[in-house]
Formats: sequence, structure tokens, C-alpha cells
Amino acid sequence: MGNRLTAILDSLPETGIFVMEKKGTNLLYYNRRIKEVCQETEAGIDCGVVWKAVYGDSLFPDDAETGHKICYNTKFGRSTDVIAHEIMWDADTPAVAVVVIPHKSDYEERQGHEQIEKLYMSSLVTVFDECIIANLTADFYVNCQRDIMWTDIPELGEFDRENKKYSGLTVHPDDIEIFNASFSRDAMIRIFGEGKNRICKRLRRMMGDGVYHMVEFTAARIEQFSDECWCVLVYQDIQDEYMLEQKRNVEISQLATAAEVAYQMLISVNLTRNMYNIMGYEKSDITYAPDTGNFDQLVESGAAAVDSVFREEFLRKYSRKPLLEAFDKGVRNVSMELRRMGDDGQFHWIFIQAVRVDSPYTEDVMEITMIKNIDEERRIQEEYLEKERKAKLILEEALEKAEAANRAKGDFLSKMSHDIRTPMNAIMGMTCLAQHHLNDPDKLSEYLEKIEISSAHLLGLINEVLDMSKIENGKMELTEFKFDLCQLLQDVVLMVQPDIQKRRQKISVEIAKEIHSQVLGDGQRLRQVLVNVLENASKYTQPEGRISISLAELEEAESNMGTYRFVIEDTGIGIKKEFLNHIFEPFSRADDSRISKTAGTGLGLTIVRNVVHMMGGEIQVESEYGKGSRFTITLLFEKKNGGLPAEKKEGQELTDQFCDLKILLVEDNELNQQIAKEMLTILGPEVEVAENGQEALEMILRNPPFYYDLIYMDIQMPVMDGFEAAERIRNSGKERIKELPIIAMTANAFAEDVKKTKISGMNGHLSKPIDMDQLRKSLVQCVYWKRKNLKEDNFYYEEESLEN
Ligand code: ADP
Repeated sequence: MGNRLTAILDSLPETGIFVMEKKGTNLLYYNRRIKEVCQETEAGIDCGVVWKAVYGDSLFPDDAETGHKICYNTKFGRSTDVIAHEIMWDADTPAVAVVVIPHKSDYEERQGHEQIEKLYMSSLVTVFDECIIANLTADFYVNCQRDIMWTDIPELGEFDRENKKYSGLTVHPDDIEIFNASFSRDAMIRIFGEGKNRICKRLRRMMGDGVYHMVEFTAARIEQFSDECWCVLVYQDIQDEYMLEQKRNVEISQLATAAEVAYQMLISVNLTRNMYNIMGYEKSDITYAPDTGNFDQLVESGAAAVDSVFREEFLRKYSRKPLLEAFDKGVRNVSMELRRMGDDGQFHWIFIQAVRVDSPYTEDVMEITMIKNIDEERRIQEEYLEKERKAKLILEEALEKAEAANRAKGDFLSKMSHDIRTPMNAIMGMTCLAQHHLNDPDKLSEYLEKIEISSAHLLGLINEVLDMSKIENGKMELTEFKFDLCQLLQDVVLMVQPDIQKRRQKISVEIAKEIHSQVLGDGQRLRQVLVNVLENASKYTQPEGRISISLAELEEAESNMGTYRFVIEDTGIGIKKEFLNHIFEPFSRADDSRISKTAGTGLGLTIVRNVVHMMGGEIQVESEYGKGSRFTITLLFEKKNGGLPAEKKEGQELTDQFCDLKILLVEDNELNQQIAKEMLTILGPEVEVAENGQEALEMILRNPPFYYDLIYMDIQMPVMDGFEAAERIRNSGKERIKELPIIAMTANAFAEDVKKTKISGMNGHLSKPIDMDQLRKSLVQCVYWKRKNLKEDNFYYEEESLEN
């Protein structure tokens, strides 16, 4: 090759030429550009070295002898055209000449590139509304894609200054601060310097039409482009998505608000990621957990507040693992009721429910935990249960009472049967014996005495049973008359005296001096109470023991009410502690041989306590077994002044006048007729008998006024009963007939019978069996009446009940 040609070929700045053997591998020629690119090049070396420099790592092509290839060449630093051509070297050596020249795109190729660039540009317009490339280090930018609608920034220039201008013009004033914190030149250099490659923020940006839209600004670092910090800045209008999202958020918050009405707390939980977010709650209800955080920790702190009774179940149901397992099995709802400590330091009932929810955005297992305070529901439920329990209890009690009443009835009947048979046996036995000894007056009198005792006992029993029945039916009524307490006490002692004497016991009576003894009350019932307790004191005290009764007035106040205390004490057998609590129960008698030998029903004290309570008083008992007992009765009476009826004082003198009386006895039963007639005759009056009410009425009308001084009227009679007869007599129109005393003499001993006798116009009431004492009293009464009626003087008279 000539020197000139060599110089020409070496002067080509970008074209590399080399020649290699066709059949061997020796390099035959190379120009300067080849040497520049591949410095190892020497004539005669293996041409593969050069080839590698030209073709890079591409394989030596088979058709290298001739042809044209375009390839990227790192050594050349660009795409190159590689053209191979067969030549004859030195006229006899077949060789291949290879020319490597920088590739110049031809027209079609350029057309293709332009097309792609256009596509790129239009696609950028679609994706981004603006695109700026900035060299932050150099503070320089190029605006590659202007906002089509509107933008003021020049095509290129100083980045920091233009960026500030840009943000001032376009970014919403409220978002400027965020923009500067993320997209100012300094901020981006710092953030990229910290290793971040992307900065993304949603801000409001003004659009060409002057309306702010929500856009997403992104600054992305262009990596390893050079040592300088390059980045691309784009934004995307996301107004539509933002509005949709806002709408969805509003809907969610509306749903949450609606749910909050029913639930005090709503927690959204991502079980897969172990995260929770409290959506809504009553602030006062929870202080132990932050609004958002680790779900395991929330369960743990929640469990600490749960009542220990429910804690284990709570953890078993609501810990992450069991919830995941349950949801995995297809359960959609896990709920329970429990008690949890509230902020107020009190336990509250809550209903907790974890509901599995599906999210279109994630595959994670999500649930919403809803918590509701159910204190009120529980209260209502408990109230209902309590009511039911009480109703059941009442029913059970009623059943128990009915059963007890049934048992009591059975006990009562068998007891009565026994208690009645005992004196009846004595009465019948003694009567039988008396009939056999009619000619032996001593024996006869002994039998009659025993018959009298047994009859008295039987009557006492019947009276007690009647009283009990009155008490149980609420029919016992108290009457009020003026009476003298001291007098009554002495009467009581007198009544019990025979028993005391029989037992050779000593009795002391003590009445406090300054006592106001005239009072208003039911003296009859008080007498019954005191006799009963005093009789017991005598009955349950051994012969020659001591008994005492005392009366004192407690308060000497100005008031017209007086509190009186009766104390009855004995040195008798006493009462065991265990029996003391049962002493006032019906039919209760101490389990003691000394008691069973003594006549009694176990009803006396029951009646006593009831009567005392009806009078508004109290009865207490103290006793020491083997030593004696003390009964204390406290009663309140209205104090009265003035004298008492003279009747009692004049009793004896009046009995002498009985012989002047004419009595009409109305009685259908022959035996009763005989008893009453003979008893009355013994007392003195003359007696006429009517068989029934009708006959009595006729006899009254037949005779002049005041012919009879008194009528004893039986109630149950054939033809006309006592009530009707009394009424007809009173309404007969006969002269001064209203002044004729009529006294019922009846076995109807209930309070309503007594009331009825009064309504029908009778003046008093005697219960059968009658005794001489009752008759005597009524006759005394009658003498008063007679005196009053005949002398028409103002003799003081106060009606007194003639009831037993
Ligand atoms: P009763 O005397 O008919 O048995 P009460 O009701 O009067 O019935 O008395 C009930 C029981 O209380 C008696 O059976 C007796 O065991 C006991 N009791 C009552 N008073 C006394 C007393 N003063 N001393 C010892 N025990 C008494």
C-alpha cells in the first residue's frame, strides 16, 4: 500500500479499517482508528483481538467474508456499521477487508425514531400533565412537557428560582408549606441524598381554568446518570379519583357514625398484618390503647381490663390466632358478653363482636370489632330474672305455706281430737260413775267436781281454738271501754288464786304508787292476757314456789297516753334456750315430762302475743331453765279521768233484787232450757219459756209493757230465729218496748255474730255454755236497767259488754 493511501486511511477520524487473512487469522493491515480503539493491535496478531474490539462480544460471524452489520460498539461508544469485503491482498493472498464506520441513520430510520419520539411525547401527555427534567446540582432544568392547559414556566432555566415562582403561582396556599418541604431544590437534594429515589405528595394545584385540582406531584431521581443529581418532575391530575375516594370516605364515616350509635367502639383490624385502627369510640371508655397500633398488644391490654371470670374466654376467642383460625373455617362472626372495667373504676357489661370483612384492595384477613355497652340490657334482663326468681320464690313459699297449712290442719285435727277426748273421757267416765253412786253424796260430789273441772278445761280449749280462729281470720276485734288497771290486776289475781292456793304457791302483787289507773281500752282482752300468763306461771311452777305480778307506769309525761308495764315472774321450771324462740308458736309445748303432765294446748301464749300486738304492745320473755321465767308485757293506754260505774261496788247488794225480776227465756233445746231455767231460778228470778222467736214475740205483745224485765234470746231456732225475733220485738210498736233488755244467749261466738246481735236490736251477748257467773252479771245489769227505767232517775249507767 502506498504511503499516501496509508496516510489518507489513517486520517479518517471515525472510520476504522483492517484486513485479515481469509484462510488464516493473521491481521494483515489496520489503520490509526483501529489502533485507537484497540491498542493491542499489531500487524500479524490474531485478528480475533481486533474483531472483538469491533464486534464486541458478538461471535465471529460465519459470513464475515462479506456483508453488512449494524451493531453497538462500546469501544466506539455508539452504533456502528461493520462492512466486510473480500479482496486479494498482495495479488495472491485472499483476504477480507473490514470497515467500521459510525452508523448514520438513513431517512426511514429517522422517520421511525421521530414516530417513537412523538408517541413518547403524546404518551407523556396522557400520563403526566407536565414533565420537567432538572439537574439539581447545577440548578438547571428543561421543561420537556408543558402543561397543555396552562403554565408560565420557560422552557429551560434556573431551577430554584423558577420552581419558587411556579409553586407560588400554582400550588394552593394551604399546601405551599408541604410543597416546599418536599419539592424545593434544597429539600429534594436532601431527600435524594438520604437515599430515597422518589418523592410523592398529593397537593392542590391550580389548573388552566383557575380551579384547584388534587394532583399527585412526583420527583424521581434519575439514577447513575452522572455524579450530579438529576431528577424528573411530573404531576398527575387525580381530581376524579380523589373525589371518588372522598365520597367513599364520607360513606365509610357515615356508616361508622351510624354504627357508633349502636356501638361504643369500632376497631378495624388487619389480622394478617397484626394491625388495628380504632375508628370510633366514646373517649371515656378506653384509655389503655392508642388509636392505632399492634393488634396483639391491644388484645393483651384489653384482656387486663376484662373481669377475671371472662378473661380466659376472651383470650381464647379474640387473640389473633384463634380469630384467624375461626375465619379460616368460615366463621364470620365471633361474639361474647363480658364485664370490663371502665374508666370510672366500675365494671360494665359489654357485647363484643368481631365480624370478618372482605376488602377489594387486599388479600389480608380483615375484621371489624364492634363493642357495645349493654349495662342497661343486662339490668333489664337481671330485673326480669329477679322478678321471675321472686315470683318462683313466692310460688314456692305459697306452696310451702299451703303444705304447711295442710300439715297444720292435720296436726290440729289430731291434736284437737286428743285434747277434746281427754276431758270428754273424764266427763263421761265420771258421769257414768256418778250414776252408779247416786246414793253416795260424798262420791257424787267428788265426781261432779271432777266433771266440772274437765268441763272447764274443755270450754277453755274451745275458747282458745275460737280465739285462734278469730286471729287467723283477722276477725279478732278490740273494743274500748273505760276500766281501772289496778282493779283489773286484782281481779286477775283473784281468778288465778284458787290454782295458786291448790299448789300452795306464794303470790306477791306489786302496783306502783303513782299510777294513773283509769284508762281506755279492751279490759276484757287484757284480763285474758294476764290470766293466761299468770296461770302458766302457776302451772309451770312446783308446789310452794313463788309467783309475782307487778304493774308500773313508765313515763309520767304530760301526754294523755300512758305506758304500762306488767311483769309476771315465777321460780318455776324455766324454759330451755332452744325452746324460748318457739314459745309463741301455736301448739308449741316444751318437750318435758313435767309439761306433758300439765293440761294445756300450746295455744295460750300464741293468743296472748297476738292480742298484745293488736293493742300495739310488746311481750318479752326471759327464762333460765330450772330457775324460773319472767314475762314482761308493755302496753299503751289512753288515760281517763272520773269514777267507774258503781255497778261493781254495789254488786252484792243488787243480787238481792234478782227475785223481783221476771225473765223470758227463748230457747228451743229442751236440755238448754232446763239448764238455763234452773240456774236462773237458783239465782232468784221468775222464768217463763218460749220455744222459738215467734212464740216470744207473741208473749211480749200479749203482756203489758215492763211485764218482762229481761229476755234471754237463743239465736238458732226453728220457726223464727233470734235475730228476726229481736228485730220484730223492737219494731212491734209496743209502748216503751225499746227499753226492754234483750240478751243473746248463743253458741255463735264469733265477732260477726256479736255484731249481728247488736244490729238486730239486742243489748248484750252471752256465749254458751253459760255459767252462773255470767248469768249473775247479766242480772245485775238488768237491775240497773229496771231502776233506770222505772224510777226514771239519772242513775249513772255505762254499758258494758256482757261478752265472755
Ligand atoms: P300451754 O300452757 O297450754 O301448754 P302456752 O302457749 O300457754 O300453752 O305455753 C306454751 C308452752 O310454753 C308451755 O307448754 C310451756 O312449755 C311453756 N311455758 C309457758 N309459760 C311458762 C312458764 N311460766 N314457765 C315455764 N314454761 C312455760
